[in-house]
Amino acid sequence: MAVFVFGHKNPDSDTVCSAIALADLKSKLGVECTPVAQGEINPETAFILDKFGVDVPEVKTAFAGEKVFLVDTSDLAQLPDDIAQAEVLGVVDHHKLGDLTTSNPLECWIWPVGCSATVIKSMYDFFGIEIPKSIAGIMLCAILSDTVIFKSATCTDKDKEAADALAKIVGEADLQTLGMEMFKVKSAVEGTPARELVLRDYKDFDMSGNKVGIGQLEVVDLSILDACKADLAADIAKLKAEKGNHSVFLLLTDIMKEGSEMLIVSDDESVVEKAFGAKPEAGKVWLDGIMSRKKQVVPNFEKAFA
Ligand code: MG
Ligand code: MG
Ligand code: MG
Repeated sequence: MAVFVFGHKNPDSDTVCSAIALADLKSKLGVECTPVAQGEINPETAFILDKFGVDVPEVKTAFAGEKVFLVDTSDLAQLPDDIAQAEVLGVVDHHKLGDLTTSNPLECWIWPVGCSATVIKSMYDFFGIEIPKSIAGIMLCAILSDTVIFKSATCTDKDKEAADALAKIVGEADLQTLGMEMFKVKSAVEGTPARELVLRDYKDFDMSGNKVGIGQLEVVDLSILDACKADLAADIAKLKAEKGNHSVFLLLTDIMKEGSEMLIVSDDESVVEKAFGAKPEAGKVWLDGIMSRKKQVVPNFEKAFA
């Protein structure tokens, strides 16, 4: 029986590419693995898989009775509803430790680096397994995506080293250009419904008993979003009501200006000023230098909500 490898809900490029890479590595180590995703892949990931000729993983959301490896999360809110009925064999991640528990001992590779693919690169090296060119390509793109071409506060030297080594395998000399190519695909929002954009990279968090949703759109120039910003603001208000959240925040990240405009709907807007020292006006605020939800936005909000 195959073991399934998958990452978080609203799969991003790291979640999908790292699931594929870990399934390749584990299969070569003798544990037959199949990568799957908890939802449809986004346009950036589709571009990456197409570029390196890698199959799009099937969508699978129920895992009761299955054996699984998890990548890119250990948070129950990001995992399938029936994860407690699955046997988790291992976790490879680069987020803060989540609230998953297991009934058996597991293999755990959770490192404070910018991307799950960086950890998997080290796993290939550890086990002495050669990385196929196509897998190296998608791992490289996962690192460029998660670290925003090495600009994010989450990026470490280990990510840069892994990217350089993967780039050599792929024969890719110009990582800036490859990164920009990806982010241009990611920035193409025209004709996409507001709800799809809001949920594209969206996560709910429990902050001191408050349900807080944080979405993020990363674009090469914020002006790309001018035409749809009002729709996005209206949609996060709708989403907040539907989910009964305390807050929904949407980060519109300008990867060239290296900051984010945050759209805000909240029962208590003062948490934003408490978290970032900037006062929102008309449901939004510019946060200079803020690009990482994981390392900057979530920790600041957690303190503000405490
Ligand atoms: Mg991710
Ligand atoms: Mg990641
Ligand atoms: Mg991300």
